[in-house]
Amino acid sequence: QPELDLKKYIREVPDFPKPGILFYDISTLLRNADAWQVATARLARAIAPWQPDLLAGIESRGFLTAAPLAQRLGCGFVMLRKPGKLPGDTVSLSYGLEYGQDTLHIQSDAIKPGQRVVVLDDLLATGGTLAASVQLLRKVGANVVGASVMIELTALGGRDKLDTPLHSLIQYA
Ligand code: IMP
Repeated sequence: QPELDLKKYIREVPDFPKPGILFYDISTLLRNADAWQVATARLARAIAPWQPDLLAGIESRGFLTAAPLAQRLGCGFVMLRKPGKLPGDTVSLSYGLEYGQDTLHIQSDAIKPGQRVVVLDDLLATGGTLAASVQLLRKVGANVVGASVMIELTALGGRDKLDTPLHSLIQYA
């Protein structure tokens, strides 16, 4: 369905999670079988040329695109998780948010040196989360060949924080 407008399936929720913030909610897209199929197909088409060995998903909404796409593209799937969730040895990276700090972990042996990795999340805002994820993946030996999100908030300039190619499915100014 080349004409399907995916924006119609994104719900905009004012004042979530805090007053003054407009939250772009992908739940309404995921619950629609056609929209979800089309979104996944379009993401697959964008990511395939990067020829990844692995897709890395950022907890938790990044898992929702990375896991089905990995199946579709014949890649492995790797989780970037919040502290205390992954068993075994992990490598972590802390990064600044607008208020406070966050940390992501990956299992130390998740990636073989030089494997081609594409990292996925639901949404790019300031770019802090995705930029940190790229750094973390490199710490464990990944060759990060691209990043992909469902939604890019272009006015925030997050794309400029990344030194990898970025693909986004839907853009809002
Ligand atoms: P950034 O680090 O500023 O780019 O923020 C991106 C992270 O915050 C992603 O992990 C998103 O899941 C989350 N996020 C920020 N704003 C929204 C939103 O409007 N909808 C859904 N997730 C959001």
